[in-house]
Amino acid sequence: LLEMNHIKKDFDGVQVIKDISLSVEQGEILAIIGPSGSGKSTLLRCATMLETISDGEILYLGKKAAWIENGKPVFPKKEERKEIQSCFGLVFQNFNLFPHFSVMKNITDAPIKVQKRKKEEVYKEAKELLKKMGLEDKADAYPYQLSGGQQQRVSIARALAMKPKMLFFDEPTSALDPELTGEILKVIKSLASEHMTMVIVTHEMNFARKVADKIIFMDKGVIAEEGTPEEVFASDNARMKEFLGKLA
Ligand code: ATP
Ligand code: MG
Repeated sequence: LLEMNHIKKDFDGVQVIKDISLSVEQGEILAIIGPSGSGKSTLLRCATMLETISDGEILYLGKKAAWIENGKPVFPKKEERKEIQSCFGLVFQNFNLFPHFSVMKNITDAPIKVQKRKKEEVYKEAKELLKKMGLEDKADAYPYQLSGGQQQRVSIARALAMKPKMLFFDEPTSALDPELTGEILKVIKSLASEHMTMVIVTHEMNFARKVADKIIFMDKGVIAEEGTPEEVFASDNARMKEFLGKLA
């Protein structure tokens, strides 16, 4: 589904991503872990076309989403770019809901305006999504009236409303206290049980261990360790051990 080949990214001459290759298959759950500043968010931003790459190429379903031409980063032209972007949804750390839109409008706006889908159909599906997220009574609420956990569930519903083939999460629980973190992890687990393809940047090690098929440990812009949760957590990698030790 997703392929990233030899990705590099630098900011003002500083290389933040140093030749990273990875792939995500349909139905697979990849967790990305690693210390602050190791490049996890940058990698996600490159994967989701929010950031240009400095080298390499990114493909969705075999179609080029980002590459280098004449030394410059390029994206596909408008229509194809839109099609590729509809492959994935994104959930951020800080929810990023539209503050002046109700919950319902937050969820339905893009499917109606961007995907040009029928209003009735989109509203019906949005109601089902809200129910699934345990928020059926919050359709008319505004983001400021919701807890962080509820806001994050709305932002997951909003991403799902676009019917993506995969979801990216960048530390979806790090702005939440432990109780609300559990709510969100439960939602992600239920998506996992439905075989949603997901890439999750997280500091929740127990969660990553339980839910991920594959874990990548990033350190200073490279993949320092990768494999199944068993392999990665049993690794002898000194940086990995240091990282886990610091978390414990
Ligand atoms: P954290 O766990 O704290 O979220 P991270 O692994 O997500 O960290 P990134 O946010 O990807 O790390 O940052 C990697 C490096 O790239 C950092 O040194 C950061 O300062 C730098 N960086 C990120 N975005 C930019 C930018 N827009 N301009 C310049 N430098 C940047
Ligand atoms: Mg980050």
